[in-house]
Amino acid sequence: MQERLDELKSLLGQVQDLNAAAAVLEWDQETYMPDGAAEARAHQVATLRKLAHEFFTADEVGTLLEALAPETQALDPVSTEASLVRVTRRDYDKALKVPASLVAEMAEAVARGKQTWRKARAENTYATFAPHLERLIALNVQKAEALGYEDRIYDALLDQYEEGMKTATVETVFTDLRAQLVPIVQAIAESTPPDASFLHQPFDTQKQWDFGMGVLKDVGYDFDRGRQDISTHPFTTSFSITDVRVTTRVNEQFLPSALSSTLHECGHGLYEQGIDLALERTPLADGTSLGMHESQSRMWENLVGLSRPFWQHYYPQLQAVFPDQLGGVSLETFYRGINNVTPGLIRVESDEVTYNLHIMLRFELEQAMVEGRVQVAELPDLWNAKMEEYLGLRPETDAEGVLQDIHWSLGAIGYFPTYSLGNLMSVQLFDQAQQDLPDLENQIASGQFAGLLGWLQTNIHQYGRKLQALEILQRVTGQGLDAGPWLAYIRQKYGAIYNEF
Ligand code: ZN
Repeated sequence: MQERLDELKSLLGQVQDLNAAAAVLEWDQETYMPDGAAEARAHQVATLRKLAHEFFTADEVGTLLEALAPETQALDPVSTEASLVRVTRRDYDKALKVPASLVAEMAEAVARGKQTWRKARAENTYATFAPHLERLIALNVQKAEALGYEDRIYDALLDQYEEGMKTATVETVFTDLRAQLVPIVQAIAESTPPDASFLHQPFDTQKQWDFGMGVLKDVGYDFDRGRQDISTHPFTTSFSITDVRVTTRVNEQFLPSALSSTLHECGHGLYEQGIDLALERTPLADGTSLGMHESQSRMWENLVGLSRPFWQHYYPQLQAVFPDQLGGVSLETFYRGINNVTPGLIRVESDEVTYNLHIMLRFELEQAMVEGRVQVAELPDLWNAKMEEYLGLRPETDAEGVLQDIHWSLGAIGYFPTYSLGNLMSVQLFDQAQQDLPDLENQIASGQFAGLLGWLQTNIHQYGRKLQALEILQRVTGQGLDAGPWLAYIRQKYGAIYNEF
């Protein structure tokens, strides 16, 4: 068995190397690459990704997996060997199920769709994008049929991003969440908002950057195994467990922007840096799902970074950096200002209370399209009606409605719900961390983050893809996916800020 395992690891290591090399080029593309290099870079990345796919889907890999399956059956399922064979088998089957012709058709449809979407959004012409969306939906249906599913067609698409999660589970949890959240948002919209005007004024960008770098160091992001750079859309990428990169953006006129994106990507980065080094150069060296990944980013961004204890520690430092802007603003005023809730039309600008409603709307619509219950032509009207029902707002243009996000133009169906799954799981996990670390709030208030990070590494990060998200949730909290803890957190925090509900 050992010989075969070594052989499998060596083959998979080469696949990882090729993908990591492509990821370095993609990181460079978003950070330092001159614009003129775009076409050449696209070729380079495509070649590496194609080679990685060929290496991975080789017959040898299949033969080794076949032989190793019975040999690893008796091992502990969480052992590296058993996990490697099980997870690689799933990836291998998925990679072989989708025919190359469909992959090529999808790639072409995405290239055209993305280009048309950009123009349609800029010019507010949904009709020009509609045929492309129709094609992308049809190809997703074909892909789902190729991947296979037991219950709902959407299961196959969701599974690409959130392995093991079922549509029915998400639907049940979201229905409960929506029923309770809509009245909360209504109550907040009707009450007096806290003053947040002091956040909108010039804040020196270099000072903002330096402050964010200090926070990254404090919370435990390892700069020996990572770095932070600037990009238009902040992201995290990893080339190995020993090289995990994050990016951020800095808005001179709005203070919370940089720090929230720094902490968000830091949460993703800490997850990747915390994976057991024994999993290096294998498919297990990755976050287990987009939802679990997002639970880590949201935890640091919101549950830590928008909390009172966090600012009890950092606010005096921030005031010292920006005495003219914040010298006369009390900690309490600052805390309320950064937690200001305003229902809006745009998902990426929304706060932690309203965010999930933006996601539920997209989940319902994309699922209905895939199941053939909604036609692409009906989409704008349905979108606007749901916005009104959930958030009390009606978009005046499709650009600030159905055309606002890039995801559908990329053919990514099944991706959106993972954002909300991450929000819900972040609170379920953080509640457990608080139970296990009774002193956690005091630790955060004194700028100590090693307790929380150690807890996350032990319970979540180290496993990489050995355990699926729902398995981690069950092992750590004893519960399945549940909107209750998130709703309780929102009621408690915002009930105090808004004195209303
Ligand atoms: Zn994220």
